[in-house]
Amino acid sequence: MNERTKKLIELDKKHLWHPFTQMADWLKSEPVIIDSAEGFYLIDTDGKSYIDGVSSLWCNVHGHKVKEIDDAIKAQIDKVSHSTLLGLGQTKSIELSEKLVQITPPELTKVFYSDSGATAVEIALKIAYQYFRNTGQKQRTKFIALQSSYHGDTIGSVSVGGMKTFHSIFRPLLFETFFVPVPHPYRFDGNEKDCAQFSLDKIDEILKTDSDQIAAVIIEPLVQGAAGIIVHPKGFLSDVRQLTEKYGTLLIADEVATGFGKTGKMFACEHENVTADIMCLAKGITAGYLPLAATLTTGKIFDAFLGETTEHKAFYHGHTYTGNALACAAALVSLELFEQNKIIESLPAKIELIEKYFAKISALPFVGNVRNCGLMGAIEIVKDKTTKESFAPQQAIGTKVCSSMRSESVMLRPLGDCIITMPPVAIDLDLLEKLLEIILETIENDLPTIIGRT
Ligand SMILES: *Cc1c(COP(=O)(O)O)cnc(C)c1O
Repeated sequence: MNERTKKLIELDKKHLWHPFTQMADWLKSEPVIIDSAEGFYLIDTDGKSYIDGVSSLWCNVHGHKVKEIDDAIKAQIDKVSHSTLLGLGQTKSIELSEKLVQITPPELTKVFYSDSGATAVEIALKIAYQYFRNTGQKQRTKFIALQSSYHGDTIGSVSVGGMKTFHSIFRPLLFETFFVPVPHPYRFDGNEKDCAQFSLDKIDEILKTDSDQIAAVIIEPLVQGAAGIIVHPKGFLSDVRQLTEKYGTLLIADEVATGFGKTGKMFACEHENVTADIMCLAKGITAGYLPLAATLTTGKIFDAFLGETTEHKAFYHGHTYTGNALACAAALVSLELFEQNKIIESLPAKIELIEKYFAKISALPFVGNVRNCGLMGAIEIVKDKTTKESFAPQQAIGTKVCSSMRSESVMLRPLGDCIITMPPVAIDLDLLEKLLEIILETIENDLPTIIGRT
């Protein structure tokens, strides 16, 4: 480790408070400090490179230091970096809104910008709530969400979040939400169809008795990312859509993780031809370059906010950096690259490769389940493959496996004992194969030793 790295680690430990991190562990650890990047590799302060195996927390798309995106941002800097959308228009935010409306499911025609997935969801919840205020159904104030769902870390988003570890401590601060069981085939005693039906029946039950109180059902379409890539049975999303239509409640699709190619199509909703009433985008929207988010709604919802100023039907919500010009410029060129480089068309071959390796990995000892939805994948490590019993959390098996990967120049971040793979969608097949090969070998060779040591 060079002197500069030592100094940076010392300063980091002195001043930084890292997200989702037990800082006592961090302070004892020897962190990697990223200094630069090249394509699909991250490079640390000692010059060591790592394959960016989780797309820098699920947001990188075309790799790092992509010339076209770098140039677009530089060109925008030469014009204007930021001006407000409160009472003013701005070129790039207008151009991007047209693009987003073109590529998202039909009927979503209005774009409200913000700067993170959590704010995109926060906005969706407030719009759904106010939509019913504005249209005379004031009692529709509550939401239905799935257990183990993750929608971001602001108070509203946490209120519809169902991850006990992250969310239970804040429960007294949150508004009441109806939670329904997640359709998780691996952990369900029965077939996929019954698994989906079990959750659908619960949603139906709540809507049957309380639909006049429900503003919206919020869902991560197809796959619950932060829960450990829980892939819902086929048809679940469209069945949920039918229930929301039946009971006149809105559907919010949180595509923050799934958007921009991760599931094999541009958006997860496309797989089941679903148009939600409100759709949340963030993470991949700027190809992982700058913070930007968008909440899209139908014209019907938008129209319910029109009226005389004194009626107070306007949506009183906004952020200082709403529709930031640099971020919108990055997003626009990223969407051009999707077309130019035929990214979506390139995905089936990548997904096939992932599934080929996952099949091999699933046969290894201690691998309880492998699952993927497009490029979003999870390898779940268990103590007992037959009973599906998990290791004790304090054994931190997932973390240890990912540390082992780092020595093999692969950067991954686990969710509990699930090893998450989420390569940038633009990764080339050769590098993807190298990544999968290292994951396979590490689990095959190092996992038994790691388990033996704990
Ligand atoms: C990451 C994530 C969020 C939160 O996005 P941030 O930009 O981290 O606030 C919301 N919803 C889903 C499904 C996510 O995966």
